[in-house]
Amino acid sequence: MTATADELIYLDNNATTQLDPSVIEEMLPFLMEHYGNPSSGYAFAARARKALDLARERLAALLGCEPSEIVFTSGGTESNNAVINSALQSDPRGKHVVTSAVEHSAVLGPCQDLAKRGCEVTFVGVDRDGNVDLAELEAAIRPETALVSMMWANNETGVLFPVEQIAGICRAKGVLFHTDAVQAVGKIPIRLRNTAINFLSLSAHKFHGPKGIGALYVNRRTRFSPLIVGGGQENGRRGGTENVASIVGLGKAAERAAEYLPQEQTQVRAMRDRFEKTILENVPGASVNGAGAARLPNTSSFSFEEIESPAALLLLDRHHICCSAGSACRTGSQEASHVLRAMDSRGDGARRSLRFSLGRYNSESQIDRAIEIVPKVVEKLRQLSAPARETAVSTVTTAL
Ligand SMILES: *Cc1c(COP(=O)(O)O)cnc(C)c1O
Repeated sequence: MTATADELIYLDNNATTQLDPSVIEEMLPFLMEHYGNPSSGYAFAARARKALDLARERLAALLGCEPSEIVFTSGGTESNNAVINSALQSDPRGKHVVTSAVEHSAVLGPCQDLAKRGCEVTFVGVDRDGNVDLAELEAAIRPETALVSMMWANNETGVLFPVEQIAGICRAKGVLFHTDAVQAVGKIPIRLRNTAINFLSLSAHKFHGPKGIGALYVNRRTRFSPLIVGGGQENGRRGGTENVASIVGLGKAAERAAEYLPQEQTQVRAMRDRFEKTILENVPGASVNGAGAARLPNTSSFSFEEIESPAALLLLDRHHICCSAGSACRTGSQEASHVLRAMDSRGDGARRSLRFSLGRYNSESQIDRAIEIVPKVVEKLRQLSAPARETAVSTVTTAL
């Protein structure tokens, strides 16, 4: 089967993913029939309570941890905020946090906020491939360091940090370690048991579950004080009536992710590799960001010489190809990606970058079509002379 010209080609799976149909199927009864409050005492509500237990078990199985170590939250952003709040015990004054310069805004934002409130924050840099220097990281830890937070997989480049090793360094120094694993869960195998990781954040909508639901792993021996205090739900670790249907969806998505993990490592990786190799061969002046680092199997971040990413996105959109420049959260802002700038502060690769992120619902024929369109779009943009480029983009958009 070949992809038709008007078929949507969704290559932005690091921004969000399509719901797995079996996830919707499992959620529906909890939106329609089993609407009981899991905290109520009668038998009718037990259905909802049991469903929460099952979801917790399924997620724990995917993460290789105990169900009691899972706290359901509203998503990756809340999980990150909860950890930072807990480690600082609401009082950032005189304390210190270590993180990386390439974190998602859901870590950078709270850290910048801490810095304003009297906490010192060290943002450890990365090399050209997006790797951290472990000796530099270790040297950044001080006696007053309350938390080290390093992402497992970068959302823009797919570069993986050796978080188990970093957690070991932190434990040896007696410092809490958190990882934002929102992009790692469902894409690479994770086994938290016997690691030194204290906290891990994840989000269902990045692995074919619903939006607005996520979880925080809190190691059973790690002290945690909740960000949201209320009716004692989640064993006193996150107040508020549970979002039952969404938690059910998260649980099912976790079960499916475990089933699909081998495929992610083989089929999705093979498609990504073919796409990446062909683009590199067919487009002069193209390079892969983080090419020399260990990366997720689904992500390709390119820089193309002599193009501007917003113009490229516009033209690709005309061909129903969804991808992004840097992260989706920054679309609309003209600010170049902080991740790519951290990897190469002097270059302008950040303004010339496009991220393609694949998933299990992409087909080989969609990749064929992307391989056909992307070089044409880059070529078209390059034909525009540099000074006239700004005004000419609109003309080209209508012409293509
Ligand atoms: C998407 C994402 C988040 C935010 O998760 P939400 O559930 O959308 O709040 C955090 N960190 C990373 C690395 C992400 O990719």
